[in-house]
Amino acid sequence: MLTLTTLASGSSGNAALVSEGGTHILIDAGISARRITTALKALGVAPADLAAVLITHEHSDHISGLATLSRQLPTPVYASYGTAGTLVGKLPALEGRLFGFTPGESFQIGPLTVETFATPHDTAQSNGYAVSAGGRKAAVVTDLGHVTEAVQRGIAGAHLLVAETNHDIEWLQSGPYPYFLKERVLGDYGHLSNEAGAELVCEAAEDQARTLVLAHLSKENDTPQRAYDTVRLALERRGAVIGSDVRLDVAPRSEKGPTYIV
Ligand SMILES: [Zn+2]
Ligand SMILES: [Zn+2]
Repeated sequence: MLTLTTLASGSSGNAALVSEGGTHILIDAGISARRITTALKALGVAPADLAAVLITHEHSDHISGLATLSRQLPTPVYASYGTAGTLVGKLPALEGRLFGFTPGESFQIGPLTVETFATPHDTAQSNGYAVSAGGRKAAVVTDLGHVTEAVQRGIAGAHLLVAETNHDIEWLQSGPYPYFLKERVLGDYGHLSNEAGAELVCEAAEDQARTLVLAHLSKENDTPQRAYDTVRLALERRGAVIGSDVRLDVAPRSEKGPTYIV
């Protein structure tokens, strides 16, 4: 049974656990190692049983716990070659167990097939992940300025989608961020707005996705209610009934969410 649980989501830290039987992998380690291990134990997972940590990119909200975690645990870490290149100097403890890939490649971790796909973001070489087992597939795509064909291919066929809804465009434009930061977030290599995230979620729902989890919300330029309502309206306009056709949730910012059966 493939399951996914978000441990934290947002600009102050991201991590998600994907499990199939006794195989557990962490996607991103952007909260403290202590918070990660506490959350794992609460889910009945011994931290030493983590089979791998997959990193999407080197921004601190995705790797802040990795240094301590990799000193405490011998877990292998996977990242794109570009991301790995930024990690290797900072995290000498990873030597010998940091594995690189080119986004678009797939690999196997026990029963889990991990597909990777490039995301457009202002980093060395960011990517998203889709993890499948037993004919079920979960995809995680956050930190992208716009949706590309590679992203659409990467999440195709997903039964569960964790998708970025970072900001309300109007709130961001009229909000407190300095001009350069507004430009960055709104840009092609920034973050997906609620409206763009809604479009992605609708496409996934029209494909196979039945569980939709909104993620990586900005604290300043979004609220869970605002993101939820934007996506709910978009889904309803396409004829989907929330609660019966699809489940729509917002990943909690600083605590773990429910464990979804993919
Ligand atoms: Zn981020
Ligand atoms: Zn980022």
